[in-house]
Amino acid sequence: MGLMDELIENIVKHADYRYNARKEELRNQLESKGLKVYFTHELTSCKKKSEFRNRYPELQRKLMHKPPLLLGEIVQKGVKAYLPRDVEEERIFYKVLGNTAIIGTPDFYSQSRRSVYELKFTRRRPKLYEHHRLRACVYKWLSGAEHAYLLYCSPRGFREYEVNDEFCDSGLKSLMDKWSSPMWEWECKLCVYRTICDRFNIFSEYEDRNYKNRNS
Ligand code: SF4
Repeated sequence: MGLMDELIENIVKHADYRYNARKEELRNQLESKGLKVYFTHELTSCKKKSEFRNRYPELQRKLMHKPPLLLGEIVQKGVKAYLPRDVEEERIFYKVLGNTAIIGTPDFYSQSRRSVYELKFTRRRPKLYEHHRLRACVYKWLSGAEHAYLLYCSPRGFREYEVNDEFCDSGLKSLMDKWSSPMWEWECKLCVYRTICDRFNIFSEYEDRNYKNRNS
């Protein structure tokens, strides 16, 4: 195995621990109490994606070898090295409402600043995206923080946005009611599961038809 392969495997191992192992432990604990468990990142993106993730864990692991994810991990680790001491990485928060538990792990949390932070690595010019905004506000609610920030790191600039939309217990119910496949209009085009997803084909046909109608 060459050094690059070793490097990639180490990054994937670390990412797998961050994204999956730690949270799955908590999911199992909560499920053993009879609760229905959801992760924030699932509820704020396509419902079918989370089904695919659970159904095909080996595919999920393969996808973790994709360069954008690897680069995102490297940036996350680099940023962590420069964080002030009062900012901690990936603290897990959860709330139980009735028979439902929701788990969320903001990238960074600071008790003294009463803030949660989500870090995004992008090659585009940094700008605020709706799905990032929603997720950060759910984290704010889960953690009891007063402020939520999105931090964008890009070769085209660094930006910080404060996003303080209110999210409350009743917001979870409406989020769950809205949870759909896809959740966002652009999602299918960028989706790693589109080759195996029947919804993608339906949406592609729909878009093709719309395109033809617009141009006829
Ligand atoms: S292709 Fe679209 S509907 Fe299918 S899993 Fe991906 S985002 Fe969801």
